[in-house]
Amino acid sequence: MSNLVRSIVFLALLSACAEPQGKPAFPFRALIVASDAGQYRAKEVTFETLDDLDHMSGRIGYLRGNASLNVDEDPSEIIASADPDSIYTDRGHKVKTDYLVEDGVVVPQNFQTMEMLGLYYNVERTIRYWETNLDLPLDEIGYPSLFYNPKLSSNEGGIVKEVSAVMNAAYLSGVRDLWFFKTSPQERIPVKMNFGVVAHEFGHFVFDYRFANLDTTTYETSSLNNQRLLSGINEGLADFFAYMVTGSPREYAASLPELAVERSLPVGWTYNTLPNADCNGGFYCEGSILASMLYEIAQSPGQSAEKVGKVVYDSLPLFRTTWLQLRNKEILDSSSFLRALIETAGADKAIYCATAVKWYDSEALQRRLSCS
Ligand SMILES: [Zn+2]
Repeated sequence: MSNLVRSIVFLALLSACAEPQGKPAFPFRALIVASDAGQYRAKEVTFETLDDLDHMSGRIGYLRGNASLNVDEDPSEIIASADPDSIYTDRGHKVKTDYLVEDGVVVPQNFQTMEMLGLYYNVERTIRYWETNLDLPLDEIGYPSLFYNPKLSSNEGGIVKEVSAVMNAAYLSGVRDLWFFKTSPQERIPVKMNFGVVAHEFGHFVFDYRFANLDTTTYETSSLNNQRLLSGINEGLADFFAYMVTGSPREYAASLPELAVERSLPVGWTYNTLPNADCNGGFYCEGSILASMLYEIAQSPGQSAEKVGKVVYDSLPLFRTTWLQLRNKEILDSSSFLRALIETAGADKAIYCATAVKWYDSEALQRRLSCS
């Protein structure tokens, strides 16, 4: 073989190595299971911010795999904790995907890659909504960190063992970490691939920013009643934000059918009928009243989910002021948030009042709304 031919063969081999058949081009397109107005099906999606497909990294952050959370207490304890050093024994590592490329489209080759693409896609869509429609200044605040399948480990007498997660997804206030746990057999669509669940958890991050200024001490109160009230408001707003971002009021049921009754909007109970309602979710059931009220306002003439979301977003610093003044002095009820909301609604006050009175059908509470 002449030197020239040898060089050509060598070059051909090199280019074959450098450009494997069907190398994906930016922006990456992938075939995944994703939501279409609450219906999950295989579809081709385009990633706008993903730069490194092999390690799931892009402008909005990267997926951290194999993190280890130190849980010698109840997992809800670590959510309340704000110290990353005591929460993590391992902050996680870059993940690795496995895929083929067919006609320029990425086709995941294992379940984990499908989940990681689905999770990133949902976070990307959620962030795009907030940046485009509500000007959430993420470049200023910083993006939340994304944990893929973090492990819960317990250290008993020097023996570290893994404990099974009782949660499927969570937001860690203050340190703004989003956890998406290993998929359980109960999940039809893995919750991390559920647009509604991802948008809900991201909603807690927005609440943490607007209400708490990312300071976990803001949530503290000496009153168990007020603690529960705040948790309900936080959950209700996260559910409304999930509806706003996804456009679908019954997204969670695609993953966990048992949530269809308790969390699809609007729910079948009001403030007065809750004690006899078919809902076992504790303060989530109270949050669903708030989410349903906001959902109903969004359906009213001249309103939209985005418009209502903007009022909620703008009302949170006002609610914060009330909360900080009264959290340890008074037994608060939902009117503490509703007043801030109604005051922020401005010219739309009448529709906010009429809908609030319908869902919060307690005269004592209504008197505190300053609606008349
Ligand atoms: Zn939540």
